[in-house]
Amino acid sequence: MSQYWKEESGAQTWTTDIVIIGSGAGGAMAAMTLSEAGFDVVVLEQGFHYDYKNAPKTLGETIGTMYEENGFRTTKGEPPIPVAGGKGLGGSTLINSAICFHTPKDTLQRWNELSNGAFANEDAFYQKQDEIWKFMQVRETPDMRLSGNDLAHKRATKKLGWVEGNIHRNTPGCGGCGRCNAICSINGKNSIDRAALPRAAKAGARIYTGTVVQQITEKKVQGYILNRAKKRIGTFTLHAQTLIIAAGSIGTPSLLQASGHNTKNDQIGIGLHIHPVINTWAIVPDPIYRPGSTQGHYSDQFVDDRVLLEANPILAGAFYQAFPAYGLSGKELMLKGAHMASTGALIRDITEGSVGIPNNGSAKISYSLGEADRKALILGIHKGAQLWLEGADAEQIALPIFGSSPCRSMDEVYKAAPTDLSLERMIGYSSHPQASCRIGRALDHNGKLLGYSNIYVMDASSLPSNVGRNPQISIFTTIRILAERFCEQRGKDIIPLFT
Ligand SMILES: Cc1cc2nc3c(=O)[nH]c(=O)nc-3n(C[C@H](O)[C@H](O)[C@H](O)COP(=O)(O)OP(=O)(O)OC[C@H]3O[C@@H](n4cnc5c(N)ncnc54)[C@H](O)[C@@H]3O)c2cc1C
Repeated sequence: MSQYWKEESGAQTWTTDIVIIGSGAGGAMAAMTLSEAGFDVVVLEQGFHYDYKNAPKTLGETIGTMYEENGFRTTKGEPPIPVAGGKGLGGSTLINSAICFHTPKDTLQRWNELSNGAFANEDAFYQKQDEIWKFMQVRETPDMRLSGNDLAHKRATKKLGWVEGNIHRNTPGCGGCGRCNAICSINGKNSIDRAALPRAAKAGARIYTGTVVQQITEKKVQGYILNRAKKRIGTFTLHAQTLIIAAGSIGTPSLLQASGHNTKNDQIGIGLHIHPVINTWAIVPDPIYRPGSTQGHYSDQFVDDRVLLEANPILAGAFYQAFPAYGLSGKELMLKGAHMASTGALIRDITEGSVGIPNNGSAKISYSLGEADRKALILGIHKGAQLWLEGADAEQIALPIFGSSPCRSMDEVYKAAPTDLSLERMIGYSSHPQASCRIGRALDHNGKLLGYSNIYVMDASSLPSNVGRNPQISIFTTIRILAERFCEQRGKDIIPLFT
């Protein structure tokens, strides 16, 4: 792929019709739609371009370069939960697991209730989503591409008679290396940097990497320029008629508030959902290891209780931490590498947190799980445990609970994870921050920031609430619709996704 982005240094001044801050799921989709419609577009991305040729080789380096806050971005509240986010052209899609789900019908209805009909034409929404589905080259993971963990997950859910399926993914060239979260090693994933950004650049968009936005006023954006070694090598000032903020559900409200815009709009940063995930790790009797997709199988048996089970990436380090094994017993555990299985229970959270003004580059995320979500997480632990103990006859399982011992039966699980288990003992994780600058609260139906005539938000923050499934397809769809509305209102022709 020829270079479509620019790396600059020194003191830069730029002028454009539209500036888009962030090049992830939302920013890239907006950039392609608007530049193809004829607008002069500049994209400012704090991270860099990565592909299989220049991607970091080690996990530590990957997290230190392509993850927000070096992988340490965490909520403050009970329990503290790490919130992963990607950094680079493509944003979080660069390092996501490529899982694709349609927006559930009840989610879209809820969005319409909460936003007073922002997507009232539900058929049109799903028609657009079908186009996005094809554009992102989404396919069901074939059995031959399921990893050993996926297959064990599938056998276990089938044995238990749970509703299940192979996950759909936007990985048309998947080689089954299971490394999606550290960038696809053969460019087999159709992340948004591949799908949309080259088209945006071809239509004239100027895409700058290493540009960290610090301050935005209504017509001006300012920040500094980094090189790949994270050294400051310049500054920039950009003058634009329209600002589109797409820095993600943590970055967007952080930036707007750090620039003082919360004085005019007190809904910025309010209503954050994060889809907390809780893992259950198992050692199963027979070796199951075989390479395959990062996450290829799910069960939505418990979605009415807001719990979605998905086979999780197998990371040896995670197992080593989950089972209290040291010295010789640690060695024995690692010799069982081929027997390791893992599931994650993703919760469609009712809890709403908030994003405040960052402190020294660290996001301020307040989020304390409410009682209903505490119960949903415990259900997720119980169902993950049942999946492995009863569905796969696991020898032992480890629970995501501080201080708990491995369990060999459901009786032990119910003792280790009683219904009154306190939040502070739960070990959660999140990679789906959403709805922190919502249509229906902070934004109008077009994504325009209330109180302003020319500032828009077009990323996961804009969603009127959470999705309840892995959200990227819902984000692409929503932002394509918002960007098309922007063009229509200005009399511009929209170039179809397929030309
Ligand atoms: C590890 C991981 C796995 C995931 N797996 C899946 C999955 O399998 N399926 C799924 O549907 N979803 C998945 N997600 C979530 C999905 O990728 C995100 O919901 C989606 O990408 C969010 O889109 P966004 O545009 O809001 O933000 P992002 O895609 O995160 O993009 C925001 C961009 O803004 C840039 N930015 C932030 N601040 C600034 C600033 N001040 N100046 C300049 N640039 C800035 C960031 O560097 C980033 O590139 C995963 C996420 C992660 C982190």
